[in-house]
Amino acid sequence: MFCRSLFIALIVAGLSACGTADEDSANTVDAAKPKDADLAEKAAQIDTERLSEIVKVLASDEFEGRAPGTPGGKKTVEYLIDRFSKLGLEPGAKDDSWVQTVPLIHTQVQAPAAITFRVGSEAQILQQQTDIEVSTIRPVESIAIDAPVVFVGFGAHAPERDWDDYGDIDLEGKVALFLVNDPDFAAAPEEEVAGRFGNRRMTYYGRWAYKFEEAARRGATAALVIHETEAAGYGWNVASSSPGENYAVVRAESDEEPVTLQGWMHGDAAAALLAAAGYDLDELRVRARSTDFEAFELDNVTFGADLAVQVESIESSNVLAKLPGTSRPDEILMVSAHWDAYGIGETDTQGRTVRPGANDDALGMAGVLEIARVLSAGPPLARSVVFAAWTAEESGLLGSQAYVVDPVYPLEKTVANLTLDILQTAGSARDVILVGEGQSELEDDLASAAARQGRVVSPENLPENGLFYRADHFSLARQGVPVLLIMGIAGGADLVEGGREAGDQWIADYIGNCYHQTCDAWSPDWDLRGAADDIELFRIILEDLGSSMRWPKWKSGSEFKAIREQSAESRSGSQ
Ligand SMILES: [Zn+2]
Repeated sequence: MFCRSLFIALIVAGLSACGTADEDSANTVDAAKPKDADLAEKAAQIDTERLSEIVKVLASDEFEGRAPGTPGGKKTVEYLIDRFSKLGLEPGAKDDSWVQTVPLIHTQVQAPAAITFRVGSEAQILQQQTDIEVSTIRPVESIAIDAPVVFVGFGAHAPERDWDDYGDIDLEGKVALFLVNDPDFAAAPEEEVAGRFGNRRMTYYGRWAYKFEEAARRGATAALVIHETEAAGYGWNVASSSPGENYAVVRAESDEEPVTLQGWMHGDAAAALLAAAGYDLDELRVRARSTDFEAFELDNVTFGADLAVQVESIESSNVLAKLPGTSRPDEILMVSAHWDAYGIGETDTQGRTVRPGANDDALGMAGVLEIARVLSAGPPLARSVVFAAWTAEESGLLGSQAYVVDPVYPLEKTVANLTLDILQTAGSARDVILVGEGQSELEDDLASAAARQGRVVSPENLPENGLFYRADHFSLARQGVPVLLIMGIAGGADLVEGGREAGDQWIADYIGNCYHQTCDAWSPDWDLRGAADDIELFRIILEDLGSSMRWPKWKSGSEFKAIREQSAESRSGSQ
């Protein structure tokens, strides 16, 4: 292990390999030329200064928060291509291109938005961003809804868990009102539902993406999720940070139509509206956890929306670069991050409008570039490594979804996808947090890489946030590609300075103040040693798998195992 890292340092320095008869003389040279050796060692390592420099550029005002379809987005793509090409990598998309075009629609509900919740003849007007946050992913210029409201509880249709919230209800043309998270999130151990949806761990049924999809499958015209900070994993400020705005990949004719209107209702607003209609939200929450719960139409209640929508077609791009493998170049290892952030928003108290996404995910992007730099300078690998910079992650994992619909490299020959999305900036840590425990053998690779650093793997301590379903690796996982995600908000790291408490505090501060906001900005005060160690873990795993015949598998019990096994025959020596 030590030998391996020294090996790279020596190659870079033009010296002979370790483990040979030259080992002693190499040491002698080392001692004789401390400066060169230092430089070589540094060149072969993930470098905190380089990470910081890259983030400083990507998160600068000039890049305007890197929203897809904006000049800042375009500049980001150009910057990434420039960096990858200077590292000597090859264009990684089709036809010798650096980019995979991702056609998107961008929609913006226009102000003022007329939204009402009517109980009998009494109409309550809902304020966009205060009481509700609604948008559309349909390319429509106006929306007119006046429809009954169906309370669907958590809205899970999960036959494999013996659970169905819908029963015989007909949602066609109606508004579906959901609770956030899944049915056993808040359940006490003695409740029958406890454990059926992984306890506090969020399942895909808990995600808004699932809820909107399920409502669409059932023909609902709108889907609204009642916001609760704890169950959502983020505050109202995050849920309502881009009021009325949305993006979607341009749909093929054959694709399912999404709901016309989707979004969040503020928890307090929902409680007041339901109370006016004679329902107690707390009581509804309890009812929705019972095994005999069935969706029901609210008595005498209609939801109305009369909205103008600005729709534009935009073209964004995934950036793909490749380090070709020497002997098995068609076997692909992929490491990725998303280049987009939230663009320009409302003015904050300090007068800032750009939401620079410095941590989310310029830092992850910098990590991918650093891995590219170190691997391309190191010994060649048998397998190819593809570096992917996804667009439109913040709009619903759109760039990575577009990739799996039209993959440049066959997914069955993609060995693994490693994703970096948010890294902690509070310094060295004794552990790395594993997101989605028990999913694939890659977690064993993570553990052995961490052991080489003298670190350990800890399970995520906020599994209720459902992070396994909230980053681009999920797009690949759904298609069976084994994945690993490092995400700094998955749980407080055990920091060398301050321990777990300091790690938890870093997350609380970041989520509470900066996540998706103007304050997610580059800072000269960041301590990137822990982030560099985490990035280095991926480099180690890529290097290991890069010269291995091994195809990591999903573990039994993973929902992604079956789809991977269907293509097992295409992977030589995989079983
Ligand atoms: Zn992100």
